[in-house]
Formats: sequence, structure tokens, C-alpha cells
Amino acid sequence: MANGREVVADRLLDAQEVERTFELLRDAMGGDMANAKGPKGQPDAFRSCIACMLSAQSRDSNTAKATRALFRLAETPQAMLALDDATLIDAIRPAGLYNNKAKAIRKFCRQLIDDHDGHVPDTRQGLLSMHGIGRKCADIVLAFTFGGDAIAVDTHVGRVCERTGLALGSTEAKIAEALDERAPDWVKPEGHFWLIRFGKRVCTGRAPKCADCFLASLCRYPDKRLRRAGESAEA
Ligand code: SF4
Repeated sequence: MANGREVVADRLLDAQEVERTFELLRDAMGGDMANAKGPKGQPDAFRSCIACMLSAQSRDSNTAKATRALFRLAETPQAMLALDDATLIDAIRPAGLYNNKAKAIRKFCRQLIDDHDGHVPDTRQGLLSMHGIGRKCADIVLAFTFGGDAIAVDTHVGRVCERTGLALGSTEAKIAEALDERAPDWVKPEGHFWLIRFGKRVCTGRAPKCADCFLASLCRYPDKRLRRAGESAEA
């Protein structure tokens, strides 16, 4: 009988397969990266952190609306702290969970001023030490504001990693840690966009398009559906 370690090893792609998987993803999903949706080229680290905090359980369009409204009122941690609760909450309302998010933003701004002279730290460790910044936000800011080598793992990236066997982990943060070790440097940070596009277009949450998937022969997902609905085993 296979032990737990063998089962995990069997679910993971080896180094050569990881390389090949990213080559195929780049070729199929790279396309026009200049127009890729996301936080690319976000020059303002403070704004990027706030947008990331607002994005929790919020649609991209609502996050953008809330971020724009907030930054119309305040562009610095000092100015944000000077807003009264009602004004702050009203600005970020479109992003949902506004009471908790307002508290988190205040704590983040306070910490930034007290411990970092108002400047966002430019290392993963520094970012992770900030209130409200988890692994995904840290990697997004690191990659797209500071130009660091990181692949941010969101729900789409995490799902694709788990299914294909690129990286495994019980949480998005653990998958990000594993992916960081397993992904070759040349895929960072654009691999984030290739994986998101692939997760939205092919390896979708409820009904992955396994029968048409260009990664099917590499993919380790045990529940791959390689036949289309209505196709028989002999077809
Ligand atoms: S074969 Fe299916 S599960 Fe595997 S990567 Fe492709 S779509 Fe996802």
C-alpha cells in the first residue's frame, strides 16, 4: 500500500515537467501581457497594499471602485488616518466587509507611520510583518511594485497548482511557498498571469475543460475528465 509521502510525490510534477508546464502555459496564455488585467505596473506601493486589502472577497470592479473613492479623499497614510470612520467606511463600502477593512486600513497606516516612516517595506518579510498583509498581498506588491521575483497565489492560481501538481499545500500561502521553490526563475512574475488566465479559461473551478486541455498529458489531477459529455470510452 502506498504511504502518504508516495501519494504526495505521485501528485507532484517533477522539475522537468514543471518547466514544460510553464513553457506550455506561456505559449498559450502569455499573449498580450501589456493588457493583462491585474496589479501590473502599480507604481505606488501604498496604494497597491490598500487595494489588496480591499480586494478580500470582493469583485475586481468593486475593489477598483472602493480604491478610487478612498484615494480621491486621501493619498497618504497620514491623510487616511485623518479621515473619520463614517467617511472612510463610506468610501470603501463597494468592496464589502467595510467595518473590518476600515479597521485594518487604520492599523496598517498607523504601523507604516510608526515603524517605517510612512514607507512600505520592499521585502516579503517586511511586507508580511504589516497588519492586514498576507502572503498573496505581499507577493503582489513585491512582484508588481518592487519588481521582485514572486508568483502571487490567488484562488485560481492555487486551484491550478493543486490540480496539475505544480505545487501542493493546504492553504494559498503554503502553495505559494511551495511554488516559489518549484517554479524556475524565468516564469516570475508573469507566471501569475498565465496561471490566472488558464484557471479562468480552461481549468475552471466547477467544470475544468480537461478534454480540450493542452496540459492534460502532464496534469496529475486524479479526477480529470478526458471525455466530453456523451462521448463513450471507445470514442
Ligand atoms: S487536465 Fe483538467 S484538471 Fe488538469 S490542468 Fe487541464 S483542465 Fe485542469
